Amino acid sequence: MTKFTDLNLDAKVLKAVAETGYDTPTPIQAGAIAPALEGRDVLGIAQTGTGKTAAFTLPMITLLGRGRARARMPRSLVLAPTRELAAQVAENFDAYAKYTKLSKALLIGGTSFKDQDKIIDKGVDVLIATPGRLLDHLERGKLILTDVKIMVVDEADRMLDMGFIPDIEEIFKRTPFTRQTLFFSATMAPEIERITNTFLSNPAKIEVARAATTNTNIKQGVVMFKGSAKPKEPSEKRALLRSLIDAEGTECSNAIIFCNRKSDVDIVAKSLNKYGYDAAPIHGDLDQSHRTRTLEAFRDDKLRFLVASDVAARGLDIPAVTHVFNFDVPSHAEDYVHRIGRTGRAGRSGTAIMICVPRDEKNLDDVERLVKETIPRLEVPNAAPAATDTEEKPKRTRSRRKPAAKSEAKPDETAAPTGKAEEKPAEPPKPREERPRGGRGRDNGPKIIGMGEDTPAFIALSFDERAKI
Ligand code: AMP
Repeated sequence: MTKFTDLNLDAKVLKAVAETGYDTPTPIQAGAIAPALEGRDVLGIAQTGTGKTAAFTLPMITLLGRGRARARMPRSLVLAPTRELAAQVAENFDAYAKYTKLSKALLIGGTSFKDQDKIIDKGVDVLIATPGRLLDHLERGKLILTDVKIMVVDEADRMLDMGFIPDIEEIFKRTPFTRQTLFFSATMAPEIERITNTFLSNPAKIEVARAATTNTNIKQGVVMFKGSAKPKEPSEKRALLRSLIDAEGTECSNAIIFCNRKSDVDIVAKSLNKYGYDAAPIHGDLDQSHRTRTLEAFRDDKLRFLVASDVAARGLDIPAVTHVFNFDVPSHAEDYVHRIGRTGRAGRSGTAIMICVPRDEKNLDDVERLVKETIPRLEVPNAAPAATDTEEKPKRTRSRRKPAAKSEAKPDETAAPTGKAEEKPAEPPKPREERPRGGRGRDNGPKIIGMGEDTPAFIALSFDERAKI
């Protein structure tokens, strides 16, 4: 079996790798590092959790070992689709380059241009960036890419989903033709194929198996659920989520709960908190420092439930998630693979439970076709949502007092169901899309309708009815 020491990596890199405790490269590392060190382009078809960050970081550090960066002219560039993912690459870089003198800059939205300019002005060896922020710097004339020797594109399929492909093409065009390209994507959609044909030259192609089709450590299940009436379905679904969590008991020490829409991320997180579950939301409309704090709390076991959108959670390296709950069936089947890949990592076992309402059944078919298996159907847990609701419902929800906190965006469980205008559980304002430029961000989901058949459930309920749910 190949060891890191067989791979021609710089001794300083090997020392740092040894300190992480890894001695055997993962398949994507074993396949990508050697051709990358030979200066070849690499096309890695691998998803997060396979060790692909080290697959490009280790050779990059080795190759950049010699030479010095000039002001405003980075020697290498790593593009990642989200701020968190870019920050994670930067963390990996810091760990693996700790015995070298290489410098890096992280260019992501949510931090000041001024501070970033200062670092770039000094000259950096490695620039790690999200495409939008990088283009902003380029357009301001503060950055020149003509000295880039190595360019990495990470999570290209997610770049495609977020509408970043034109930005990526633009960035490619601003780097020298002679650069080396290391390109990673979980899937090879036709558009991704086109980009690789255009910008990669005779790449070494390394493909590693998809986690969802091979990772037998993950126990999967889906609950087919139909609300008692359409308007009641959202709150009943949240009650079902609570009972699914309860049914897992202490086994569920921490979990990521995925929602398709940012608005639901907020609502589900607030709702869980109201019922005493320690939860926080993470999505693209929350400011960067807030997102970072939430993630740190989750990583440090200070937060039990992370409620997330696909884009925000993409690629996050959180080692020990025991459970993934899919509050919605993802509308893009491949997201199911990414979502459940957050659990059952590094040889641990994990559980992935999904709720499927009738309108999501087509999405469920797509998921099952993609993963080539039927996801076991689960019964609704014995502890019926209704019982949980009644017992745990915070007292103040029974009073007619207007809830004290910010009046907007109350989850429906918490508003007194009197039908009074000010107590309407307004869905949070429809957020901006995560991505900064044009294209189809998917996070926002379908338009939220507030009236008619879709009138929020509680409006139609009396106190007594509510208590019975
Ligand atoms: P990534 O796919 O880059 O997000 O990495 C997923 C996880 O695998 C991270 O927690 C890495 O620290 C870990 N990892 C990376 N390389 C190895 C390795 N050779 N052996 C074991 N774990 C690794």
